[in-house]
Amino acid sequence: MADSLLERTRRTMPKWMGLFYEQPLELVSGRGCIVRDSNGREYLDFFAGILTTIAGHGVPEIVTAVKEQADRLLHTSTLYLSESMVALAEEIAVLSGIPGARVFFTPSGSEANDAALLLATSYRRSNQILAIRNSYHGRSFSATAITGNRSWSPTSLSGLAVTFVHGGYRLRSPFKELGDREYTAACVQDLRDLIDIATAGDVACLIAEPIQGVGGFAVPPDGFFGAMKPVLDERGILFISDEVQTGWGRTGEHFWGYQAHGLVPDLLTFAKGVANGMPLAGVVARREIMDCLQASSISTFGGNPLAVAAGRATIKVIRERGLQQNALERGRELRALFDPLADRLPHVAEVRGKGLMIGVEIVAPGGLEPDAARAGAVLEECRERGVLVGKGGLYGNVLRIAPPLSITSEEIARGGAAIVAALEQS
Ligand code: PMP
Repeated sequence: MADSLLERTRRTMPKWMGLFYEQPLELVSGRGCIVRDSNGREYLDFFAGILTTIAGHGVPEIVTAVKEQADRLLHTSTLYLSESMVALAEEIAVLSGIPGARVFFTPSGSEANDAALLLATSYRRSNQILAIRNSYHGRSFSATAITGNRSWSPTSLSGLAVTFVHGGYRLRSPFKELGDREYTAACVQDLRDLIDIATAGDVACLIAEPIQGVGGFAVPPDGFFGAMKPVLDERGILFISDEVQTGWGRTGEHFWGYQAHGLVPDLLTFAKGVANGMPLAGVVARREIMDCLQASSISTFGGNPLAVAAGRATIKVIRERGLQQNALERGRELRALFDPLADRLPHVAEVRGKGLMIGVEIVAPGGLEPDAARAGAVLEECRERGVLVGKGGLYGNVLRIAPPLSITSEEIARGGAAIVAALEQS
């Protein structure tokens, strides 16, 4: 008998490239929020390819834009002018809210953050970086250095000197008993202290996810990063907002996650949802920061015409169909189903998130001991009940629920009920 796809995967791909489920799934097609596996079984997709198929699967305008571009030209490189790439850059520059913004495209979020770090360290002539505890910023050599999560940080080797400050993961914070204002004040004081204690003072930047993604959708109080900004400004330290998960309206309340914080970042990175699954990412920065490099730099695939065609079509769909507003409304419906669980089920420590980024933290009953095994069992049970959800958190014990922003009320009700039942049963 031929080897199974799982055996072939295990034999040829790296062992550290993890797969969900005891019996991993092969997804072969999708429509809207529904995906179908190689056995013909359908599921509600509540993880959207790690928050990436933001407008759903098989969206006609996006598929057509990609097909038409594929017929014309697959690739040119940035050595040549590209009207569509510039049009997308112009649109993102305005949307970013960063005055006089310049945009550089890359194929992945890791490379976008790598570029942001190159810019910030070059502009500031410093290799010192502040990052947030429990962060995730990608898999490149520089991105793993600023990732504050042991499970995703396979090496301590780096040219960067990184200091991790307190952020929005309140459940396990020493400041967790404090109210929003006091919590924020304690973290700002910690930031001041660590700059004085652990750095040489001339730090390049602070990089932060407005809501931590891989970290289990940990949400700081609104205004949290705005409260940190004066401390950074006093010292000329740049603020980089990693919007790879929070961008494009997913939080419902805002188009970018940073907008909940009363500041404008110096740099912003984006990826995932922007092209609904095509590899498109990038960094936005103020002109003087973007233009500070004293050597040439290029990304062969950055701004690739296929990815750009998908990106332009996706942003149009997000805006014309009001997907940010849908994220807000559908997110509220999901929260109405999930929020009572923290009181009702002893193994649910917390339900948190914004819009269509909802985390459910699973613990051993009666305390805060993380229970990754039970979270894994809930993931399996959700699949049994026809819903795909994600998992993350510092201890792998947080369910991550993040469907496409185009999801309907009926799908929310159906998928939400299945997740609640899976949580009750596991
Ligand atoms: N930043 C954040 C916040 C992310 O969640 C991710 C991916 N999970 C990345 C960066 C890296 O993006 P990519 O996987 O496209 O390199």
